[in-house]
Amino acid sequence: MSEAGLEQKYIKEAFDSNWVVPLGPNVNGFEKDLEAFVGQGKRVVALSAGTAAVHLGLLACGVGPGDEVCVQSLTFCASSHPVSYLGATPVFIDSEPETWNMDPELLEEAIKDRIAKTGKAPKAIVPVTLYGMPYRIDRITEIACRYGIPVVEDAAEGFGSRFNGQMLGTFGKFGVLSFNGNKMITTSGGGALITPDEDSWREIMMYATQYKECYPYYQHEKIGYNYRMSNVCAGIGRGQMSVADDHIAHHKHVQKLYEELLADVTGVTVHKQPSKGGFDSNYWLCTITLDPALRIKGQENAYKAVVPGAVGGAASIMHIAPDALTDCQPNDNVEALRVFLDAAGVEARPVCKPMHKQPVYSSAPAYVNGVSEAVFKVGMCLPAGPYVSDQDVRYIVDTIRAAIA
Ligand SMILES: *Cc1c(COP(=O)(O)O)cnc(C)c1O
Repeated sequence: MSEAGLEQKYIKEAFDSNWVVPLGPNVNGFEKDLEAFVGQGKRVVALSAGTAAVHLGLLACGVGPGDEVCVQSLTFCASSHPVSYLGATPVFIDSEPETWNMDPELLEEAIKDRIAKTGKAPKAIVPVTLYGMPYRIDRITEIACRYGIPVVEDAAEGFGSRFNGQMLGTFGKFGVLSFNGNKMITTSGGGALITPDEDSWREIMMYATQYKECYPYYQHEKIGYNYRMSNVCAGIGRGQMSVADDHIAHHKHVQKLYEELLADVTGVTVHKQPSKGGFDSNYWLCTITLDPALRIKGQENAYKAVVPGAVGGAASIMHIAPDALTDCQPNDNVEALRVFLDAAGVEARPVCKPMHKQPVYSSAPAYVNGVSEAVFKVGMCLPAGPYVSDQDVRYIVDTIRAAIA
């Protein structure tokens, strides 16, 4: 059966059996599939979003008002916003240059400094598999253990990425997965929390379903959330699991093709995982960096006008940006290449703007070395989804060549 066929079969079953609710056979089946996929004897709870998984993971680590959580700064906001939902403060940690992920040395410096300044250790550590790249989980785990701080791995973009053969998301106390429309596999929207044992799994399940005690009527002893995945979405997930390995192999193949085809393009560097040390990225997105000296056609017009955002806004609702510039943005040549590719029908995006540079976090402590800000200025993400063919990659690379002035 084709991929869409399997998905439609499970969705049809949900309707036929009248399980059109946030529980049911597809949710249970999808959780079992995920447990088999990640291994390590972990238990998984399927949720309505990856953001919900971050939220519940932190909650279960005891994060509450007045606490601090060390979060990788170079990430999508879903890694850090749940810290704020809980009334806690994110402490942003900059990246190391090889993986672009959490710098273990800065992490330890931050922990020591927070203990010195506040008298208590951060309550959790959130490293992020940015664009699928594994973080240095061996060193982060060693530091986390030394200070007795739990790790909540944000592996939302790292579904199927491994370190020393082990799936990311299974090293920490909790691991986050996302099945949003753009992720490695999708349930339209959704996520999952990988939990360490039966007790944690039960507790997360309670929190995900409004913390209803076992009575014939609603009895609540804790504040819960309506975060369980819908049985219809989980049907899509079960179908997607049958092609998960193919998707991962495809993303790795696309990365390799970009590496080959861009190898001789001066001024453009494909970001690769370290060749030594057990890294196995799923290469969810291929990222490149542009030498600041590289000239791109139309560069003189970069940021001359407010662009109705490549990624901003939602459902056609937008705030009108008051100015084409903020306090820091990608270099002019990066923006010019984005515009050039866009005109050729290719959607490329800037790398995430570091959270410590976001206005909403202007008062959050940050331990920085300049790496994430530098990456933001020179980096760009190229298309890599399951429908990006070899021919598409060739077209994208040809367009990049044509864009160079
Ligand atoms: C996608 C993503 C999440 C989770 O997002 P949802 O859209 O809520 O599923 C969390 N962290 C990162 C880094 C992500 O990219």
